[in-house]
Amino acid sequence: MKVVILGGSYAASRAIDIISSLDKDAQVTVVSQSTHSYFNVASPRLLIEPEKLEKVFFSVEQWVTQKLGEGKGKFVHGTVEAVDFGAKELSVGLGDDRATKESIQYDILIIATGTRSTPGFKLNDTHEETADAIRALNQKVTKANSIAVIGGNATGVEVAGELGSLKTKKVTVYTGSSSPLSFLDEKRTNATTEKLTKLGVKVVNEIRSRSITEKDGKWTIEFDDGTSADYDLVIEATGVTPNTSFLDSSVLDDRGYVATDKSFAVKGHEDSVLALGDVLSIGQNTLVDMKYNQLEVFKATVAKLLKKVTQEKLYDPSPSATLAVPISRSGGVGLLNGWGMPNFVVRLVKSRDFMISQAKTNF
Ligand SMILES: Cc1cc2nc3c(=O)[nH]c(=O)nc-3n(C[C@H](O)[C@H](O)[C@H](O)COP(=O)(O)OP(=O)(O)OC[C@H]3O[C@@H](n4cnc5c(N)ncnc54)[C@H](O)[C@@H]3O)c2cc1C
Repeated sequence: MKVVILGGSYAASRAIDIISSLDKDAQVTVVSQSTHSYFNVASPRLLIEPEKLEKVFFSVEQWVTQKLGEGKGKFVHGTVEAVDFGAKELSVGLGDDRATKESIQYDILIIATGTRSTPGFKLNDTHEETADAIRALNQKVTKANSIAVIGGNATGVEVAGELGSLKTKKVTVYTGSSSPLSFLDEKRTNATTEKLTKLGVKVVNEIRSRSITEKDGKWTIEFDDGTSADYDLVIEATGVTPNTSFLDSSVLDDRGYVATDKSFAVKGHEDSVLALGDVLSIGQNTLVDMKYNQLEVFKATVAKLLKKVTQEKLYDPSPSATLAVPISRSGGVGLLNGWGMPNFVVRLVKSRDFMISQAKTNF
């Protein structure tokens, strides 16, 4: 069986583990536009400690070889430009310049091309460009006195917390909502506001930015209530966009995510194409969701395709949230299966080093 995995990040890594555990003889090819995976979870800390960048990138070729054994798997450094589902063939632009094209055939295709975001927060292009984006942002942070963070979800709160911990900047976070982390209960949202405020971060709720412009190093935000504000730097943490421009719109939802059934089989191509990770229309755009809700479903569906065994599992994410959101090095807010995580636990599991010491275990 020729199995081709698109993407070289968290989901691709877990997909290899599952495929090789089910079929040792599968010929696995991983196609990734970046030669290295990126532990982007740590990006809010990297913004203020860019010297740690050397600990967050991992060679895809190396982990593909480690997982599959020498000479067994194949890594192709290239960008998928088109998929012909009828011919079961994809077209790849090789290397960073993509000048040379290669066609690759598959029996089973796994789409794990994830999402993109503000440069530096995700692996939008090459890993060198990602590292450069973090260094450039760090330089701007160093020079700025006033910084606005746009976005009140986990990334916005984490970035505001890191900047606040510097104690030398006037930091404002615009949540665009009723509170930071507004999807959590009142106890947690109040704690988030309190912790940010303690760090000197001003929390502004309810107004949303309409436009953000930069001229000669000065930034202006115009808000939907007609007001505006000027800053030395604006950092946007407003969400992610799926990496699916190479796919026909017939397999995408109206937001551009891959449309699948609840077993992650791609609609119209259920016998040969699966998706996993952030790119899934029905997923939650988190690693926690992938690890705890998606992987067992994916494993059952791959088993069905590879071995024709029926052990169908359907995606049914737990309604109880699990997350840990650092707000500076000293703690943060968190939930484990819906139960509150004390500050010291958030500090131990994440805030101390943003899990950089465990980054490698993801790949
Ligand atoms: C700042 C930030 C912090 C986060 N922190 C957390 C956290 O603490 N906990 C948590 O659970 N989640 C967190 N997340 C979410 C987490 O980053 C995503 O859930 C995760 O990255 C999804 O992994 P993935 O493998 O599906 O895709 P991605 O990590 O997006 O990787 C996509 C891969 O596909 C490759 N690719 C893209 N297009 C192509 C193409 N055309 N051809 C070939 N290859 C391609 C890319 O190079 C990359 O290797 C965070 C997100 C952000 C932005």
